[in-house]
Amino acid sequence: MPSPLGHSLASLLLRAPFEPKGWLLGRTSSAWWRSPFTAVALGNLPDLDLIGSWLVSGHMATYHHDFTHNIGLALAAGLMVALGASSEDRLLAGLWGFALVALHSLLDAGVGPLLGGATLGVPALWPLTNQTYGLPWAFIQMLHFGPNAEIVSWANASALLHETVLFGAPFALVLWLKK
Ligand SMILES: [Zn+2]
Repeated sequence: MPSPLGHSLASLLLRAPFEPKGWLLGRTSSAWWRSPFTAVALGNLPDLDLIGSWLVSGHMATYHHDFTHNIGLALAAGLMVALGASSEDRLLAGLWGFALVALHSLLDAGVGPLLGGATLGVPALWPLTNQTYGLPWAFIQMLHFGPNAEIVSWANASALLHETVLFGAPFALVLWLKK
């Protein structure tokens, strides 16, 4: 998994090109589903399974990736966002809800122990099948985390730096170009 920071930056990077200047600072009066907070929340939604896993088993990894990293959750999120949007925005809002949640699983499908190596994959079609699907090579390094998700550690320093640069640099560029 990328960290919540990596997922947040990737979600903001996806939305930012479609938003006006000042969007990140809340200086635009746009609909709730277009806000940076919504992008970050949807982009991290599948990782709520970490909390569920911790509550059930006492370890965040036990059920991580089992039930929430699939196309079904992305479709459900898209539907909920569409239903919460105004009638003229409904289709676009729903598509964005779907895209941001699907992006999460797509990024997780690109995670592996070594950059450029094999990926671990996610069960993207659960509950139809438990088969995992991964991208051909890892472009995000796997984070090591303990029972309470202690992801900020020296063991993860290079992985955290890599994902911050990977998503943060283009995001910063998009913001700068909007000046
Ligand atoms: Zn995840």
